[in-house]
Amino acid sequence: MPVPLPTATTRWRCTLCGNLTRFDVTRSTKVVEYVHLDLAGEAKVEETEVLSETVESVRCRWCNAADQVELVDRPSAGAEDGADAGVEAEADSTQG
Ligand SMILES: [Zn+2]
Repeated sequence: MPVPLPTATTRWRCTLCGNLTRFDVTRSTKVVEYVHLDLAGEAKVEETEVLSETVESVRCRWCNAADQVELVDRPSAGAEDGADAGVEAEADSTQG
């Protein structure tokens, strides 16, 4: 059973114990890393591009139930009207 993913207005809730805040998330991520090595051979990842990301399992930290999460509204849902899906690239960084 696929795990429902939280959105800008919803959050996870454990259907068994009601936990809203603590989960172990097993996630598969496929990324391209820009690895920049210095002359000494020390590697540093300077950019990461996420190609795909899949949440495989969510386990409740309180009662250990696996994949027993449902989506509920966030308390502040609807307070702001920023209707963006929120998954767009966050390329906006302040320079200074
Ligand atoms: Zn639970």
